[in-house]
Amino acid sequence: MNRHDYEKMMREEPDIRTSNVRLFEEGTANEFTPPIVTCEHCGAVLPTYGLIGIEDLVGSIAGTDRGGIFWRPAPIRCNCEKAVRFWTTYDMLQKRQREDARLKREMQLRDERLSSMLDRSELQKTFAGKTFESLKPTTEAFEIAVTKCRWYAANFVKLHTEGGRYRGTGLYLAGGVGSGKTHLAAATALAIVEQSVPVVALRSVELYQRIRATYERGALLDEMALMQMLTESDLLMIDDLGKERPTDWTLEKLFDVIDRRYAEKKPVLITCNYTDTELIERLVGGRGDRKTAEAIVSRIKGMCNVIDTGSLDYRTRGAA
Ligand SMILES: [Zn+2]
Repeated sequence: MNRHDYEKMMREEPDIRTSNVRLFEEGTANEFTPPIVTCEHCGAVLPTYGLIGIEDLVGSIAGTDRGGIFWRPAPIRCNCEKAVRFWTTYDMLQKRQREDARLKREMQLRDERLSSMLDRSELQKTFAGKTFESLKPTTEAFEIAVTKCRWYAANFVKLHTEGGRYRGTGLYLAGGVGSGKTHLAAATALAIVEQSVPVVALRSVELYQRIRATYERGALLDEMALMQMLTESDLLMIDDLGKERPTDWTLEKLFDVIDRRYAEKKPVLITCNYTDTELIERLVGGRGDRKTAEAIVSRIKGMCNVIDTGSLDYRTRGAA
């Protein structure tokens, strides 16, 4: 039996509706002999597999009084040397095919996840309504901040063209809780993404979750692909830096991201509630490496224009 025949047989189930059923008159089941199958390698007769003869069960086949025998036609594998070799290769190829199919599915899923992170419409959905127009500055500091961000967004492409003096310069929006800096950062990111610039925008908690997810068992997004996404997007927005305390490992990865963006002159857009000293403490989080935390803050500050959004509570001022 060659592979094609074997596969064909394996697809066939012992079913009373298929040709694998032999009807017989009552009491004559013992006279039935299934067709003889021999090993194609050594010629040995292979016992028929799954032979079932139950007169009562099949006694009512098609409304007749006859009984029947049905069997699965695939013979058990012969254990002669040649057959063993054949089936070993066969199983290996099958396994490889399944593995290839699995990898292909994973790659597709990964691509979908990556593109969803870079998807313009996703970002527009997340930040729906958070435009410059819907901002209602109530303090002078915030009004100045809005003007600066508007200018930055409008000139983003020009600023970051090859050889430009300000290439790689990002924005660091610092201000108290509720000062409106998340809305302002979102409006900035939206205005930039609308110019077809690839932007990745994540809250710090999501950023760490995504990094952590890459080393979970069976991760769909490998670390390299995520790092590539985080370092190669034209703008990376991290909202609420310091709110979430990273683990030692995610802190290292955050440093990698920032360091690589710095080297490649790729800007970041950061919002943060904390002073530098507080931010370093939050990043260390009791477990992280202090030097790494300090390096992250110093590098971010070095590659950004710092914009003070003020410390007044924006939300309680009626801007909802
Ligand atoms: Zn054999």
